[in-house]
Amino acid sequence: MTYTNYHSHCYFCDGKDSPEVYIQQAIQLGMPTYGVSSHAPLPYKLPWPMKEIDSERYVAEIEQLKKKYAGQIEVYRGLEVDFIPKVAGPSWVEDKFSLDYTIGSVHFVDFFADGHPWEIDGRHQVFLKGLQEIFANDIEAAIQRYYSLIRQMVRDDPPNIIGHLDKIKIQSEEGKLFDEHAEWYREEISKTLDTIADAGLIVEVNTRGMYKQLTNEPYPSYWILERMRERNIPITLNSDAHHPREIISHFVEVTERLKTIGYEQLRILYQGAWQDMQLTKDGVSL
Ligand SMILES: [Zn+2]
Ligand SMILES: [Zn+2]
Repeated sequence: MTYTNYHSHCYFCDGKDSPEVYIQQAIQLGMPTYGVSSHAPLPYKLPWPMKEIDSERYVAEIEQLKKKYAGQIEVYRGLEVDFIPKVAGPSWVEDKFSLDYTIGSVHFVDFFADGHPWEIDGRHQVFLKGLQEIFANDIEAAIQRYYSLIRQMVRDDPPNIIGHLDKIKIQSEEGKLFDEHAEWYREEISKTLDTIADAGLIVEVNTRGMYKQLTNEPYPSYWILERMRERNIPITLNSDAHHPREIISHFVEVTERLKTIGYEQLRILYQGAWQDMQLTKDGVSL
């Protein structure tokens, strides 16, 4: 198999093992390249980001693994970076970590009265609390704010890859809180995709919701991928692995669907550059 994956956590953040264990697993799977992307440090009390104090060790450890496994697999050093206006964003960490690439994700929308940011992809109870306290239970306003933050990131502090574009949908199991086919939601997606297409950024197809049994479709949903295809937005296939067994979870099934949608290529980081490679049934053809 020649799959690639650039969205991968490890023990520097909330992943299970050392980066080396994931890389060894990727070699086993025949992967030509692999990207490690821990959660970048954040100035809040949270259990999942990397601790600021571990920054240098992260850089050194990935550097050493690049050398150790050269000839077997290309290893890239990335970070999944939160976009929070005036607090965090891809450009805040690029140089400090001498990164090969960044994944920009919005996990937080605005703030509670005590100054703590509202996490939208965590526990549903926390989601409901923020929805009430910050948006007076106006789900449409909250979702519009989420997508407006993604557009702001794309315009003002663009990453290489947009992380799990529509992850906020996990809060609306079976469409209980909102319907992703409602006119206003489609309009929001359409505006966001136009902004991404203008900026020429890559959107990841992220399978984590599927193997965590939170969603039947990847982030973003297949109907959004159809709209992306019409706009020629490049994609890469990522698993957002927190455990080594998750590295290519659901890739075969999702690849098949991507081809049906009309995606013939994946954009991958290979030999030091982002390149469009032909999508085959079990990876890319190099
Ligand atoms: Zn994330
Ligand atoms: Zn992640």
